[in-house]
Amino acid sequence: MYDILIIGGGPGGYTAALYGARAGFDTALVEKLSPGGQMALTSQIDNYPGFPEGIDGFTLGDNMRKQAERFGAVTIYGEAVKAELDGDVKRVHTDGGELLARSVIIAAGSVPRKLGLADEEALTGHGVGYCAVCDGMFYRGKDVAVAGGGETAVADALFLSRICRKVYVIHRRDSLRASRASQEALFQAENVEVIWDSNVTGLDSLDGKLSGIRVTDKKTGETRSISCSGLFIAVGQQPSSELFTGQLETDKNGYIVAGEDTKTSLPGVFAAGDIRTKEVRQVVTAVADGACAVHSAGEYLKETASCGTPSE
Ligand code: NAP
Repeated sequence: MYDILIIGGGPGGYTAALYGARAGFDTALVEKLSPGGQMALTSQIDNYPGFPEGIDGFTLGDNMRKQAERFGAVTIYGEAVKAELDGDVKRVHTDGGELLARSVIIAAGSVPRKLGLADEEALTGHGVGYCAVCDGMFYRGKDVAVAGGGETAVADALFLSRICRKVYVIHRRDSLRASRASQEALFQAENVEVIWDSNVTGLDSLDGKLSGIRVTDKKTGETRSISCSGLFIAVGQQPSSELFTGQLETDKNGYIVAGEDTKTSLPGVFAAGDIRTKEVRQVVTAVADGACAVHSAGEYLKETASCGTPSE
C-alpha cells in the first residue's frame, strides 16, 4: 500500500512525486503514456523560470520524472480505468492491476477539446490534428489552418509558419485571447492570415484525407471554402475527470472542485494541476499545486495515522 498514489505524470503529478518521495512517503505515480502530459507537446516553453533560453516541454517533463525518481518515487506505466476513492484505503484499478493507497493525488490534467464537426473523428490523423508540434512536419511546404485564438492556437500557428507555405488562423472573435508577446510574433509572420469573427463549420475530404475547410463569417453569415491539407484544432482543453465524476464534486465544466490546498470533497483525495478549478492554468501553477497537494496529503496521513492504521 502506497502512502501517496498520484494519477497523471504532467508537471503537477511529477512535482507531487518529488515532494512526496523527498518527504519520505512511499510514493508512486501512474502515467499512461510518457512524462510531461500536455506540456510534452509544447515545442518551446519560455515562461517557466530557470531556463533563460526556454526549454522544450518533452525534455522538461522527462527531467521532472528523473528528479522525482532520484528520490525514490516510482512510475507505474498504465492507464487508470476505475477509482474507488471513499474510505481509508483508496483503490485505483489500472489496465495492469489494482493499486492501493492511503491518499490519492489526482493530476490527470486535460485533453484537447473537439470542435464537434461531422467527419472530425474520421479525419483525425488524416489531416485533422490536435498537436502541431507532433504532426506539423507532415505538412511541410503545404497550406494549413489552425482553429482557435488562445495561447495554444497562436503557438501552433507560429510553429507551423516556419515549416508550412501558408497558415490560416480561424478565430471566432475579433481579438485573440493569447498573450501580447505571442500576438506580436504572430502578426509579424508573413505567411499567417488571421480570419476573424469566423468558425470552421465544415471539413472537405478527398480519398479519406482532408482537402479543405469551410469557414463561416459570423457577422455576414457567408461561408467560404479554403483549400488546405491540415487543420489543427486548438480550441481549449477539457479536464480528464470522467473517472471521478459522481465521487468528487466537479464544476459545470468537469473540473474537480478544490482550492489552493488541493483538497477535494473526499478526505485523502487531492487535485493538482489543470484538472483542478482555478484561474490560471500554467506549468508553474501546476507545479505549485503538486507541492501543496503533498503538504495537504502529509497532514491527512498524519491525522489518520494517529487514529490507527487504516483497515482494508
Ligand atoms: P484557451 O485559452 O481556453 O483558448 C481557447 C481558444 O479557443 C479561445 O480563443 C476560444 O475563443 C477558442 N474556442 C473555444 N471553444 C471554441 C469553439 N467551440 N469554437 C471555436 N473557437 C473556440 O485554451 P488554450 O489556448 O489551449 O490554453 C489553455 C491554457 O493553457 C491557458 O491557460 C493558456 O494560457 C495555457 N497555455 C500556456 C502556454 C504557455 O504559456 N507557453 C501554451 C499553451 C497554453 P474565445 O477567445 O472567444 O473564448
